[in-house]
Amino acid sequence: MRGAVLYAPGDVRVEERQDPRIIEPTDAIIRLSATCVCGSDLWPYRGLEAVDGPSPIGHEYAGIVQEVGSQVTGIRPGQFVVGSFFASDNTCELCQAGYQTSCINKEPIGANGAQAESLRVPLADGTLVATPDLPSDDLVPSFLAASDVLGTGWFGAVAAEAGPHRTAAVVGDGAVGLLAVLAARQLGAERVIAMSRHEPRQRLAVEFGATDVVPERGDEGVARIKELTGGLGAHSVIEAVGTQESMLQAIRSTRPGGHVGYVGVAHGVELPGTELFYSHVHLHGGPAPVRRFLPELVDLIWNRQIDPGKVFDLTLPLEQAAEGYRAMDQRRAIKTLLRP
Ligand SMILES: [Zn+2]
Ligand SMILES: [Zn+2]
Repeated sequence: MRGAVLYAPGDVRVEERQDPRIIEPTDAIIRLSATCVCGSDLWPYRGLEAVDGPSPIGHEYAGIVQEVGSQVTGIRPGQFVVGSFFASDNTCELCQAGYQTSCINKEPIGANGAQAESLRVPLADGTLVATPDLPSDDLVPSFLAASDVLGTGWFGAVAAEAGPHRTAAVVGDGAVGLLAVLAARQLGAERVIAMSRHEPRQRLAVEFGATDVVPERGDEGVARIKELTGGLGAHSVIEAVGTQESMLQAIRSTRPGGHVGYVGVAHGVELPGTELFYSHVHLHGGPAPVRRFLPELVDLIWNRQIDPGKVFDLTLPLEQAAEGYRAMDQRRAIKTLLRP
């Protein structure tokens, strides 16, 4: 089969890879209807994370089950399925508590390389969620978004306790940040402030339900959030970048007693203890347990109540994955969908 391989920073190639096959009796093989490039794929692509290449890459997927192992009972060939970027059993104590990305049996999907024609998904019964029937083609991008960016933005909003009578603010205008806007609105936040300097992203944030847009960042951004919230700060702030600057911007934009949901993969973030102590801010986040939210998200997409697929502003054949990476790296595209 064809699949993307990261050789070195800036060097992604689509080449012939071995067809995936059932290894464990709990596995499933999926023929991918769509896959995509993630903001987190850009860290190794930019050389900011070590590349142990050449290695298969990609962890977001949606498609049709081709084959299941002998112990798989809940998923069957022919179903359209979505899963998270970590396989999980969905039965251990941590999964049951809603933290499937900390499952005691978790396995990263990225190691199997989802930017490909087919994918092996471990722990299929626990990991995959099937749609009620085969979806029409126009719904596929939205289901693909549920695999990570929607689920991650959703967790950010839940962790930040976005809800009715509250103001939420979102730091970061990548796909996760934009979908955190959608999530905060769906969860009932009265006001949602998107922090973005880029016009096309601002527009999408408004389409997803942002009531205000703040282009300033850093201390100026914090000052703007305070201005918009009677000098107090937002109740709920979602951090969707993962840098020192964005994390401090999130904490400082939150009112005492408020909540920060941080879902940007942290790179070099160090929190000042004294400031944290006096902030009275709750911090919760980490790798989003997307699986917790998938049944609800699949339902919302199936019933066309949300359209998170709009976050893909570039669609390319899988063969052109390298251009998909370049477009995101240069911020010409918010998120690239790849059609195998
Ligand atoms: Zn991702
Ligand atoms: Zn588990």
